[in-house]
Amino acid sequence: MEWLEWLSEDGTFAANTSDDVLEFIRHRCAAAGHQETGGIIVGYYTPKRECAIITKASEAPTDSRSGRHWFYRGVVGLRDWLARLWRSEKREYYLGEWHFHPDDLTDMSPVDAAQMKTIAETESYNCPQPLLLIVAAAPSSSLIVSMFVCPQGKPPMRMQPCSVPPPSNQHED
Ligand SMILES: [Zn+2]
Repeated sequence: MEWLEWLSEDGTFAANTSDDVLEFIRHRCAAAGHQETGGIIVGYYTPKRECAIITKASEAPTDSRSGRHWFYRGVVGLRDWLARLWRSEKREYYLGEWHFHPDDLTDMSPVDAAQMKTIAETESYNCPQPLLLIVAAAPSSSLIVSMFVCPQGKPPMRMQPCSVPPPSNQHED
C-alpha cells in the first residue's frame, strides 16, 4: 500500500492518505463523467495532532446535488456511518471533504471556500480545521490530487505533497 503525505507551507498542518483511499475516489470520479461529485473523508489525528491520517472516503450521499462546476454534498447515511466508525476499535471520525472537479480546476472554488468555512465554524462537525481533497481531471485524462486545509478563522491553505514513511497502525485516543 502506498501513502501520500501533504504539508502546509508553514509546516503546521500535515495530512496523509493511503493509495486505497485515492483509488476509491478515482473510481467515483471516473463514474461521475463531466459532473462534480464528492463525499467526506474520515480517519484520525496522530496522538500529538501533528498529522491527519485519512483512512476512508465516503460515496456521494444520495441527496447530494451537482453540476459541472458545483457540488452540494448531501447527508443521507453519513450520521450512521460516522457513529459506526466512532464505535469501532479504531475510533475514526470526520476529517473533511473530497471533491471531483471534472474540468482541470485544482483550486477551491469560492463556493468550496464558503462551504469549508461553514464546516470549520459549525460545532456539530467538531472539526475546526477541515481538509478538502480535490481531484481534478487534467486534459491528458490523468487526475491531479490537491489538498487544502481550512483552519477556522484563517484563509484556506494549499498543502504541498511530500513523501514520508507510512504511518504506524497504532494510534492513541
Ligand atoms: Zn469543489
